[in-house]
Amino acid sequence: NYRCRSAFKLMEINDKYGILRPGDTVLDCGAAPGSWTQVAVERTNANGKQERAPQGAVFSIDLLHFHAVPGATIFGGMDFTSSLSQKRLKESLKDRKVNCVLSDMAPNATGVRMLDQESITNLCYEVLRFALAMSAPQAHLVVKVWDNGDVPKLERDMLRFYEKVKRVKPRASRGDSAEHFLVARNFKGTPES
Ligand code: SAM
Repeated sequence: NYRCRSAFKLMEINDKYGILRPGDTVLDCGAAPGSWTQVAVERTNANGKQERAPQGAVFSIDLLHFHAVPGATIFGGMDFTSSLSQKRLKESLKDRKVNCVLSDMAPNATGVRMLDQESITNLCYEVLRFALAMSAPQAHLVVKVWDNGDVPKLERDMLRFYEKVKRVKPRASRGDSAEHFLVARNFKGTPES
């Protein structure tokens, strides 16, 4: 009963890298229709269903409006890249630091390969910047990328702030040939923090 097959991509990534734990605070960017949010709520116990485990929290944002996921705080109809959206997310997080930032965001494809690749990389940098500001020590970050020349640079930039960065192609992603994910683990903090 997941809202879409994408759920299996995140489950596969989580089974391999253990990035979601009960009690964690998670930000899910590009969350509609909500299947990653469903997985994140279950794994972090944001709905409090596991009585003996710590309760996590999940914050989910998308340009589109989508149905509530019990246990998650949903920001529908909001552009993650706008400063107003980021301000609202920060206010809603209060003093909580995030343990895991997820982005399955993809821009609307124009069909012009070079432009599309550039816009997904820009989204990744936007997510990375927000993650650096909002993450707890040892936090994780997952972003979706499309194969292109910019990915190695993004990967190197992520390695400045995270101990490990892996390129992952979940089995559930096979149909979507260009797509894969960068999984960055163990946030080292930024020089200022
Ligand atoms: N992970 C989701 C799930 O499992 O249900 C599927 C996400 S779908 C592949 C990509 C989403 O990214 C779309 O719903 C799209 O509206 C959203 N998106 C693209 N650009 C965005 C932006 N700037 N801000 C917020 N959401 C964005």
